[in-house]
Amino acid sequence: MLSSGRPAAEVLAELDERRQKDPDVNGHRLFGLVYPTGRKDIEALIGEVYERFLFSNALNPRRFTELAKIEQEVIATAAGLVHRAPGDNPAGTMTSGGTESILMSMLTNRERARSRGIEQPQVLAPESAHPAYAKAAHYFGMDYASIPLDDGYRADVAAARSLVNERTCVIVASAYSYPHGVIDPVAELAALAAGHGAGCHVDACIGGFVLPFLEMLGRPVPPWDFRVDGVTEISMDLHKYGYVPKGASVILHRDDDWFSHQVFFYDKWGSGLYGTPAIAGARTAAPIVAAWAVGQYLGVEGYLEIIDDLCATTDRVRQGIEAIDELQVVGDPIGPLLALKSDQVDLYAVADVMDDRGWYLNRNTKPYGLHFMLSPIHGQIVGQFLDDLAYAVAHHGPSKGEQARYS
Ligand SMILES: *Cc1c(COP(=O)(O)O)cnc(C)c1O
Repeated sequence: MLSSGRPAAEVLAELDERRQKDPDVNGHRLFGLVYPTGRKDIEALIGEVYERFLFSNALNPRRFTELAKIEQEVIATAAGLVHRAPGDNPAGTMTSGGTESILMSMLTNRERARSRGIEQPQVLAPESAHPAYAKAAHYFGMDYASIPLDDGYRADVAAARSLVNERTCVIVASAYSYPHGVIDPVAELAALAAGHGAGCHVDACIGGFVLPFLEMLGRPVPPWDFRVDGVTEISMDLHKYGYVPKGASVILHRDDDWFSHQVFFYDKWGSGLYGTPAIAGARTAAPIVAAWAVGQYLGVEGYLEIIDDLCATTDRVRQGIEAIDELQVVGDPIGPLLALKSDQVDLYAVADVMDDRGWYLNRNTKPYGLHFMLSPIHGQIVGQFLDDLAYAVAHHGPSKGEQARYS
């Protein structure tokens, strides 16, 4: 029930108190969910942008034409990073996040399959693919099949070959994957998809604003973007390593005409033609404009500087972990995401000790172990983190048996 009104100061004071019960989103104790840079200048810029666009609505591009142009510029920037050739139509759309980008791509691939007469399409995705693909299959009435992983925790191409069939509408490849931070064999999976008339969606939700800059820095990055034949869609989240607040992602299509499968039009309701390219109707404009502003402010050099630091942090953490005999890094991760396993200690018990010391580590189930995504701010705590980890490995008790969970 709505109660009597209270002074604004009192409302804010209560919120401050309640906010403190949750982890600090600007701090360095979380390893995922948020991606703090520790850069006051970027946060100040975003704050200014939000104040200016608090109540804007990105629903109607004909009424707010300038806002629509700003959105197109963000899309074009993302498209450029992943080498999408310029075309006549928009390369894609901005959405509220990786999940919505993936949903729109899966819907597009379903519609294309249906236009080829496939009534019950199948989505084929690696075991390590984000749950949004299974969610899309569930929402849109498609079958879903999982590709087992190889020794390096990448999609097993031979297994994919035996699972693909005439109903496969899309094959998914992660660049890089959430559970293990490794890149699936994109070229092989894309070729397999093309050979069956299917699309190939590369999930670069976390890698999209990391891998292009790693490549520019001269680090080895296997081919994964639109330069690979057969890659038809790429999803990339600005609200992760683009350092924009939540609500900003991009879904891109290789071909101009694929985009039209994504758009929904309706004109029988008495208020004229209504059309949207994605799930949302009314849309918050602030994350879109923040994405534009952060891109303008940082530029290529700004992103490169951040990523260069982040790589140095990741290298230090990885070396520190490899120096602890009981711990092993899973696979050969390319970006700032590390998964750990151990055949000597119970890593959930290790994580219990880390919890007690105020770190929020994620638990993995396959392989049983730990998971953390590094953000720029973690550069400030590498030493303390590794000391605590070494302590936890040496001094843990039995595991509290906490369920592995996404967050
Ligand atoms: C985060 C993530 C998603 C989903 O994105 P949301 O923004 O959480 O909806 C999809 N794929 C990968 C690899 C991710 O890391």
